[in-house]
Amino acid sequence: MCASHTSPTTQPSRRLVGRRTLVRGAGGLLVAGGGIAATATTAVAATSQNGWPAGTSSEVPLSSVSVGAATFPAGVRTGDVYTVLRYVARQFDSTVEALYSPGCWGHSYREISGSTTLSNHSSGTAVDCNAPDHPLGASGTFTAAQVSAIRAVLDRCNGVVRWGGDYSGRKDEMHFEINVPPGDSRLTSLAASLGGGGGTPDPEPIAWTTVRSGDSGFRVRTAQYLLRQRGQSLSADGIFGSGTASAVRSFQSSQGLAVDGIVGTNTWTALVVTVRSGSSGDAVRGVQTCLSAKGFSTTVDGIFGSGTDGKVRSFQSSRSLVVDGIVGSDTWQALEA
Ligand SMILES: [Zn+2]
Repeated sequence: MCASHTSPTTQPSRRLVGRRTLVRGAGGLLVAGGGIAATATTAVAATSQNGWPAGTSSEVPLSSVSVGAATFPAGVRTGDVYTVLRYVARQFDSTVEALYSPGCWGHSYREISGSTTLSNHSSGTAVDCNAPDHPLGASGTFTAAQVSAIRAVLDRCNGVVRWGGDYSGRKDEMHFEINVPPGDSRLTSLAASLGGGGGTPDPEPIAWTTVRSGDSGFRVRTAQYLLRQRGQSLSADGIFGSGTASAVRSFQSSQGLAVDGIVGTNTWTALVVTVRSGSSGDAVRGVQTCLSAKGFSTTVDGIFGSGTDGKVRSFQSSRSLVVDGIVGSDTWQALEA
């Protein structure tokens, strides 16, 4: 986890013990168990650095977050915070770098390392993305292109989200947090513009449509294009024969997946490649094949130009996806459905 999550063994135990003496009563926070000296500071510290109420996972309302292959243990704060941070995680996954688990973190009741301020993770208003690759204190862990993609997400969030890579002091490049207090209209507006949803938790992960030997059609052809993109040698004829099964097994073996020659959810998830305007190749052919199959007729030429971009956006709009023209895991899944 990030800077904010120093190991419990390095933290003063006083505050955590003191926190447990607090119980919620009708009039607000009451102190049970003999009103120790830490009472006042503990009450103040029940707000995280950004002004949101902090607490343990039983005290903070949390919604689970799953994005692509990753989950954020404990989730993030329900409501508009959830809507925004899930958007950030999804955009990170599709435009910056594929998220993985373990390595992503949400709510965690911790003080900021080296201070007595409660981390924004304590209120469920921060996420860490791919922690092992972007460790606390390191800078330059993203390429220039990735930083540009991060900037695009931050711009879209209109100042509501702050990136740990922008901290003036110690950098925390894995870390993204809500940077406005509760009730701030900018947060409400942003969440509404992202589709809202408030406290609606993520639905259970939707299984991808499985294709296997004997199947034919656009899903098979798309799997074949993706296998080609991933370096396998086979023709994209839309017929799942022995050659395709062999290529699937070879791919599965290379990815450490169960080797069964069947393209199910895990194999699809590993096969898809994020593509966008300017991309070219077999993954783009796969997208174009799916678009046509879904009624968004597109020439299958492997070139992601303005025509394909327009069709992708129309498709995303029709499926209530984020309309950004980028085919990441969510859009791929909808295309393949
Ligand atoms: Zn963090």
